[in-house]
This record gives sequence, C-alpha cells and structure tokens, in this order.
Amino acid sequence: MADQNPGFSTLAVHAGATPDPATGARATPIYQTTSFVFEDVDQAAALFGLQAFGNIYTRITNPTTAVLEERVAALEGGTAAVAFASGHAAQLGVFHTLMEPGDDFVASNKLYGGSINQFNHSFKNFDWNVIWVDADEPQNIADAITPKTKAIFIESIANPGGVISDIAAIAKIADAAGIPLIVDNTLATPYLCRPFKHGAHIVIHSLTKFMGGQGNSMGGIIVDGGNLDWSASDKYPMLSKPRPEYDSLVIHETFGNFGFAIACRVLGLRDLGGAISPFNSFLILNGIETLPLRMEKHCANALKVAEYLSAHDAIEWVRYAGLKDNPYHALAEKYLDHGAGAVFTIALKGGYEAGIKLVSSVEMFSHLANIGDTKSLIIHPASTTHKQLSDEQKTAAGAGPDVVRLSIGIEDADDIIADLEQALSAG
Ligand SMILES: *Cc1c(COP(=O)(O)O)cnc(C)c1O
Repeated sequence: MADQNPGFSTLAVHAGATPDPATGARATPIYQTTSFVFEDVDQAAALFGLQAFGNIYTRITNPTTAVLEERVAALEGGTAAVAFASGHAAQLGVFHTLMEPGDDFVASNKLYGGSINQFNHSFKNFDWNVIWVDADEPQNIADAITPKTKAIFIESIANPGGVISDIAAIAKIADAAGIPLIVDNTLATPYLCRPFKHGAHIVIHSLTKFMGGQGNSMGGIIVDGGNLDWSASDKYPMLSKPRPEYDSLVIHETFGNFGFAIACRVLGLRDLGGAISPFNSFLILNGIETLPLRMEKHCANALKVAEYLSAHDAIEWVRYAGLKDNPYHALAEKYLDHGAGAVFTIALKGGYEAGIKLVSSVEMFSHLANIGDTKSLIIHPASTTHKQLSDEQKTAAGAGPDVVRLSIGIEDADDIIADLEQALSAG
C-alpha cells in the first residue's frame, strides 16, 4: 500500500483483516468454534497467565470478533476495542471495570431510554449510583462530581431528540477530575463523530444500529482511547492493583495504553460472559464495510425529510440538529463531519390520536422499536416504549403524547417523503 495513512473508507473495508492465512479466503471467515487447541502445555500456561496473546475460548477472544474489534478501534482512533453481545452488555463491561460498590457516575439526563433503565434500576443492584444532570450546561457535570465519582457518561447525538453534546468542554471537566469521559457514539458512528479527537477517553457503541446497519444482529463494543493514566490515583483498583487470579499482575502497568481494554476482556468478558457470537461479528463487519456510503445517504435523506416535515401543516415541530434553526445546530457543525445523523423526533398538531394514525397509516416505514436500519423506521413512544409513564413524565423524556420518532433509511428520499405524505393525509 502507498506510504500514507489510509482514509476512513479504506479502513472501513480493510482494517484488521487480511486474507485468511489458512485458506486464502478473502472474506473474513466465521470462526464458529468455542475453543482453540493449545500448541503444548507451556503455551497453554502462557495464555492463561496473560504472558502471551492467543485464543483460548470464544467467551474471551475469537478470530472473527478480533477483526471486528481491530476495525472499530481503527475507525475510532482508539488503542484497542472489546466486542460484546449487545450495547447494554458493553455498558455493563465498562462500568464493571471502573466501579466498586458505593461508587457513582455522572450521566446526561438525555440518553437512550434503555440506558436510563439500566442505570436507574439494574446498576443499583451493584450499588453503582447514577447522578443525572442536564449536560447542555457542562458546569452542571463539574458541580455533580463527588470523591466517589468514577466516570462521566454522555451520548454524542442523544437518542431520540437530536441533542448534541459539547464533548470537548465535558472532556476538560473529566480531565480535571482524573476520571474518564465515556461517549456512547451509537447514533453518530465514527463516520460522523470521533470523540477521542475531542478528548473523550472511552467510546462505546451499540453495533446493533448504524454500524451493522441492516437490522440483523445484536452487538456492542468498548473502545479504549489509551489517553487516561489509570494509576494516577487509587480510584481504579482493577487497573492499578495486583490481580490475584493472574499471579499479581497489574493490568495498567503491564498493558499500558490498552490496559483498560484488556481489563474489560480478561475480567469483564471472562466473568460477566456477554460475548458476541462470531456469526454476528461477521455480519456486523460486512455492514461496516459500507458505513461511509450508508451514513452519507442516511444523513442526506434525513435532512430532506426534516425540511419537508418542517414545512408541513400537520407538524408542530421537528427536532433535527441538521436544520439551521435547531438550538444544537452550532454543536452539530462543530462535532459532526458529514451530517447530523438520521434519527429525530417530530410533534404532530393532532396530538396522541394523530401519532397513532401516522404509525398505523405508513406503508413503507416499519413500525417498530429500533433505529439505524437501511429501512425507514417509525415509532410513537407514547403508545409503546413510554406507555407506562404519565403524560408529564412522557414529555420530560422527550416522548410527549404528540411525539413520533423517525429513523430515516437509505431508500429514495422521494419515496420516504411520499409515504409520510400519504400517511399524514390519510382520513
Ligand atoms: C440501542 C442503543 C443502546 C443499547 O444497545 P443494544 O445493542 O440494544 O443493547 C445503547 N445506546 C444507544 C444510543 C442505543 O441506541
């Protein structure tokens, strides 16, 4: 290859992969095996003691998954990555490495609903406490940090309301406190936003969405930015203190700027068990090859649809950061390279009934609870995901009775608009 750093589209196709050394297969093979034969007793001992890199058991490493991990690490500009069975499994893996019982972390109150549930309820069982703040004002985060705060958690583009986070300002607060800024980059993907460039320390993804991109496989990933000194304080004993099960090895001291990823693998994946299937790694890898092409089309279509809906009589408002009059437009210009993503919300003048009518009348759009598919998707949160909440709670969560969420696909924009037009005028 030419003597230059490969560009994003080249990395999306090639990073981490070579023709299979055993067979010459050009596509990355699916290593659908649970376990790997040792060369001899000494090699087995070295693998178990973390003195050598190699495959033991697919819960911890797998060659197909390793290509996926290397590729995403390259696209994000991180030092290493660790794949998990889902985005939520990856989030559990991150916090398992950082937190001890009684610790807390500060999170933006505008997050994917599933993350709000995970943090509010299941994390409490580990005695991990979330402190919610309005992260639009970064000072709120600084004010919320306590001696027990181990991390800050935000989304680059928050699902679903098109909120854009001021990553650089929040990263400065994290640096001053000596704690990591974790960015959930699911809605942006590294094609639109590379949080490490702006000072973030850990990036996570639900690979289930735009990264895989075709709505066929669950997956998640943690990417290590390699830019935090885990031994600067005694806040992170899993990284800075000897590990009894690995002959007193100290993970950060031994593995340096990819120590966080190693801990997520040899402690998190090993003990929590949320490993991705090699078959899913294969499908997601194939999806990532076309990520730049798909994101260009997703973003161009989303802008056209948002402009069309902004001018429509039946629509009260459109919240899409790609629109010039959106309050987050300036942050979108600063942090997003090729567009403002493809997920946004609209409010209907006709309220709850109009929301039900729209999701019942669309023909090409699919009415379901997902985002980031090639296909255009629609959901009315008030009658589905947020049904159990009061109207007041729904509105606070950005899911008032009149709100509909769209995930714009890569079909022809004219056909997407025509489907919305017929559904909005259906009698
Ligand atoms: C879907 C999603 C998750 C959770 O990922 P799963 O793969 O569904 O577990 C986390 N964050 C965001 C922003 C998401 O959209």
